[in-house]
Amino acid sequence: MKDVIIIGSGPAGALCAIYLKRYGLDIELIEKSFVGGQAAVTSEIENYLGFPVIDGAEFSFNISKQLKKMETKPIKDDIVSVELLGDVKKIIGKKNEYFSKAVVIATGARRRKLGVKGEEEFFGRGVSYCATCDGNFYRNKVVAVAGGGNTALEEALFLSGICQKVYLIHRREDFRGYLWLSEKVREKENIELLLSSEITEIKGDDRVSKIVVSGKGEIDVSAVFVAIGTIPNSEIFDLEKTSNGEIITDNKMSCSEKGVFACGDVRNTVMKQIITAAADGAIAAESAMKYLMEK
Ligand code: NAP
Repeated sequence: MKDVIIIGSGPAGALCAIYLKRYGLDIELIEKSFVGGQAAVTSEIENYLGFPVIDGAEFSFNISKQLKKMETKPIKDDIVSVELLGDVKKIIGKKNEYFSKAVVIATGARRRKLGVKGEEEFFGRGVSYCATCDGNFYRNKVVAVAGGGNTALEEALFLSGICQKVYLIHRREDFRGYLWLSEKVREKENIELLLSSEITEIKGDDRVSKIVVSGKGEIDVSAVFVAIGTIPNSEIFDLEKTSNGEIITDNKMSCSEKGVFACGDVRNTVMKQIITAAADGAIAAESAMKYLMEK
């Protein structure tokens, strides 16, 4: 029986774990894939205090080092269900079952899919949800990015540095992302904007070779990077949620169930940023510690 189990080791979960260790609590940090979450696959981070600019992979490596220094080794497991009622929380993974007095949910969010023909079929063969992970495979090739938020703008910029040409395809005329970022995109000669346009089909033989774009017809591309927002990883938690599936918390990160806290992109946060996720993690740790003290 642990004091606190933290599910997810992105910036929110990792910082929560570090704070809880500093409070002297007995914790378990459980992670399905890798430390750092979405931050790990970000090309450059330039809005985290203390780092004028840092590569996402390096940032995540630093988180791992910091966890190690705090004698916290994340357990690899994929949590498939939870029992959160009452004083003992049961966390069920594919490998093991875990028990704790409090739980912090820091499971983040995953990329939304376009839902068009060819997307599933060509996943891993030209369809990608991460430009920093897969962009290098398409060096000097022509690629497309779908989306109009900060992620799409950042991915288009990153790809413009290594690809011959990038089509940025957005369903409206105005971008949702920051103005300064969209201006940077507009300045790039090898980024062609296809606005008020949507990808309606992804085609190819063995790999992606074409996309069909509304109002433009078929365009030859070697890859499509889908960056049209995220879906919170909250399905397994039977807690109060927004209509988008974000777990509802108060400003102390407390959820609708006693002893359960949520932090980062999985909750109804007003800003989905690394720095706000980390701050959420610190607050969740403080709240979990106080909850245990009051018991
Ligand atoms: P987002 O801000 O929600 O933007 C998603 C984009 O995809 C929107 O432009 C949306 O179009 C479009 N879209 C949604 N569904 C679509 C569909 N079915 N077909 C075509 N287009 C579709 O998502 P995000 O860019 O992943 O960013 C998520 C959060 O992280 C945001 O809060 C963002 O500010 C933050 N973020 C921050 C940074 C940074 O600070 N540097 C970097 C990355 C992300 P509409 O505009 O028409 O709705």
